[in-house]
Amino acid sequence: MQPKVYTSDEHRIPADKIDQHAFYVIQKLRQAGHKAYLVGGGVRDLLLNQRPKDFDVSTSARPEEIRSLFRNAILIGRRFRLAHIRFGRKVIEVSTFRSGDTESAGLIVRDNEWGTEEQDVLRRDFTINGLFYDPENQMVIDYVEGYLDLEKRVLRTIGQPEVRFIQDPVRMIRLIKFCARFNFDIDKPTFEALLSCKQEIIKSSQARIFEELLRMLESGSAKPFFHLLNQYGLLKALSPALGRHLDKDPEKLLYPLLEEIDSEVRKNPPAPLDRCLLLAALVFPLFHDHIRKEATSRDKPLHLGQIAEEANRAIDEIFHPFFNIPRRMRGIITFLLTTQVRLVPLEDRGQRRPRVPRDPLFPMALQLLKMRTAAHPELLPAYTLWTEASFSSHDPTAPSPVDDYPRRKRRRRRRGRRRPGGNPDAPHAG
Ligand code: ATP
Ligand code: MG
Repeated sequence: MQPKVYTSDEHRIPADKIDQHAFYVIQKLRQAGHKAYLVGGGVRDLLLNQRPKDFDVSTSARPEEIRSLFRNAILIGRRFRLAHIRFGRKVIEVSTFRSGDTESAGLIVRDNEWGTEEQDVLRRDFTINGLFYDPENQMVIDYVEGYLDLEKRVLRTIGQPEVRFIQDPVRMIRLIKFCARFNFDIDKPTFEALLSCKQEIIKSSQARIFEELLRMLESGSAKPFFHLLNQYGLLKALSPALGRHLDKDPEKLLYPLLEEIDSEVRKNPPAPLDRCLLLAALVFPLFHDHIRKEATSRDKPLHLGQIAEEANRAIDEIFHPFFNIPRRMRGIITFLLTTQVRLVPLEDRGQRRPRVPRDPLFPMALQLLKMRTAAHPELLPAYTLWTEASFSSHDPTAPSPVDDYPRRKRRRRRRGRRRPGGNPDAPHAG
């Protein structure tokens, strides 16, 4: 098939927006006689005039050939083998053209059949992610009409949508992610396939979905993402408790919390938010519901142990049955939730002098309280009181608040454990 080619006069991607390291990698691969292009989200975002999160390169060179060309390359992944080329903290992902199987409707467990550049595009997920960019000749190469879909602001799978979703259900989460991020329309057959395949989602690797959810919480579009995830019925498949809670919670406490997270992330410079804080915000509405009910059904106030138990129950419910929360994360989330009750007790105890705990995670708990004030401005006095108290008790020689505790714990416990999302065998498709 002849691709449609767009020149710089048409696409208008400024040459200086191309990442220099990605450009170097492409040039070096080409000098060694291989084909190489920029591909995926990097090209899409440049065409949308947005700053790409990362730059991926697609090449005819085999993984071992890539490794022998670059001293700073390592090969990763078994099911989806690719090279990471490191430049300081930046990583350029280089994957070999794959033929992929775009027609049989079964879960893909391995994707390492090499192919041509055209086949490589056809095994990708959405047309807007299937564009190659040749930085030397400044040309966009389009086999799938992705350029026109970008102009029309439409999301459309490459190939038959139902087959593509059954092959890799993570693509449905990615569809919702792009929909939330860019506010694009979904092409009708793609949308119908999303609705008919949503139950397939639980067949995918929990590590990959967990990672996608975390990335969305960090993306600045968390609120529209969870809203759409719920609206299209995927949230109920992944976390029935969260789906049910959203349906019946009249205050919809989760959405203002997510909105707060989004606005922190969109600040310039963005406020770094710990992943445990993000997950605690996700669990908080259900936890709050539980403790309020428990407190009214008992005649004595809940003690700290009972509150921690409720926090654990809410964590179990939100992440059941699909996700495995690493133990270290669970401990921190429990602390953040439990501390909310300490900051704002359930029953009115009058104005007391706050005693700031020495726990290095305390500032993070305060951050969660700050997020809650967005939906409940009546919490502002409590937030101000605790913030002032924690400033006046601040010890400048103390270890960095957020980092110290989790790191020390993690190092001891990590042996032989996998990081969420770091599963090298997940059927990655970049
Ligand atoms: P982001 O901006 O979030 O990085 P992205 O589209 O670049 O979005 P990546 O995970 O970096 O997402 O993947 C790079 C490219 O690999 C995609 O643009 C797409 O072409 C391809 N790809 C990623 N995941 C899949 C998948 N599950 N199935 C098919 N192709 C995929
Ligand atoms: Mg990307």
